[in-house]
Amino acid sequence: MKTISVLGSTGSIGTQTLDIVEEFPAKFKVVALTAGRNLPLLVKQIQRHNPEVVALADESLIPELEQQLQTLSQTKGPHTSPQILGGPDGLNAAASWKSAELVVTGIVGCAGLLPTLAAIKAGKDLALANKETLIAAGPVVLPELQKSGSRLLPADSEHSAIFQCLQGTPWAENARLSTGIPTPGLRRIQLTASGGAFRDWSAKDLIKATVKDAISHPNWSMGRKITVDSATLMNKGLEVIEAHYLFGIDYEFIEIVIHPQSIIHSMVELADSSVLAQLGWPDMKLPILYCMSWPHRLETPWRRLNLTDVRELTFRAPDTAKYPCMELAYAAGRLGGTMPAVLNAANEQAVAEFLDEKIHFIDIPKMIETACELHKTDWSESPGLEDILLIDKWSRKIVQEQVSKRGS
Ligand code: NAD
Ligand code: MG
Repeated sequence: MKTISVLGSTGSIGTQTLDIVEEFPAKFKVVALTAGRNLPLLVKQIQRHNPEVVALADESLIPELEQQLQTLSQTKGPHTSPQILGGPDGLNAAASWKSAELVVTGIVGCAGLLPTLAAIKAGKDLALANKETLIAAGPVVLPELQKSGSRLLPADSEHSAIFQCLQGTPWAENARLSTGIPTPGLRRIQLTASGGAFRDWSAKDLIKATVKDAISHPNWSMGRKITVDSATLMNKGLEVIEAHYLFGIDYEFIEIVIHPQSIIHSMVELADSSVLAQLGWPDMKLPILYCMSWPHRLETPWRRLNLTDVRELTFRAPDTAKYPCMELAYAAGRLGGTMPAVLNAANEQAVAEFLDEKIHFIDIPKMIETACELHKTDWSESPGLEDILLIDKWSRKIVQEQVSKRGS
């Protein structure tokens, strides 16, 4: 029985993780949950999974949660009540909860950084969905991983595909799990991308793109922020940086390929020129389950892939003029140090402004580029945690200022 802490349990990754736990009750047990503001769903999850601890990001919601749990125990009979915590310390405590063996990081954005670090420092294995944490703070997270011996298992579907393809190579034999150490024999990574919501739109039509258009992903059902990132292709840019940090491979050997069917989840080319790919229907449950069961594979009744049903797998090069975010991410990644944190925070803020209908879709890359340009004079090569947190705030402020200037 593996014990699990689920960070961001009410989100897309969190709910799919809990679905897996329900499918395999003899294999997994939830001991800790954290959530943002969705109390009705959190209460249902507490009833179902009976965790030892629950942490709310916003501690002012604790009395309301306690009240709801009390009412429930009066109307539906007794049930064990978890310890309830809140705020940053509460999230960190749930992330490093003593009885948890694996922490699934399903918080969205750099808000996941401190709980992720708490989990690493406590020596927990991680199923990493919250890529923003690694992208913003790679120079801080990687040394901590090496110190604590925590294993970083990629839950992002592309990185899971790469990880799966690397099983059985010298990399896996050395048990070097995603610690940023170069992977022997790995010549090239090809990250596949669906192309996002606007893949069939012309570049000039993007000026008309609305929030509703951007959050309708053709292949995957995900949270709003990552769905917009998929529409700008920033998600793929962030995944390039994520792959660099996870597998220790230089940027010149990481390529993006548009593959509209999302059947091949990514590919690796090895030293002898062999190319390995991992295939499956687009369903996040598989990469999450693999993190949970690794190095084993569990039998599932999930939909099986028949290539004769798919009929066609197509590929094309990405259009970097239509989607400037990819190049911005490569440039930030190549520079490294503090720049990926600036890119990531500017993106988070710009996407939030777009979702709030304060800016146009095509403004997102412009705002990120401005933040990255302005940061060049203050760039630092090996930042500490405090530097990353300050830069994250600064970059968000730069985007907010650009938005208010436009409004005035
Ligand atoms: P989501 O918006 O559906 O869920 C986010 C979760 O984080 C929710 O439980 C929310 O309550 C919590 N949360 C939000 N803000 C918080 C804060 N400030 N402090 C603490 N908790 C907070 O997002 P998602 O789509 O599940 O994505 C989660 C992470 O996984 C992201 O980093 C995303 O890039 C990554 N990811 C998601 C998918 C997917 O299919 N959804 C695929 C690959 C990677
Ligand atoms: Mg992905």
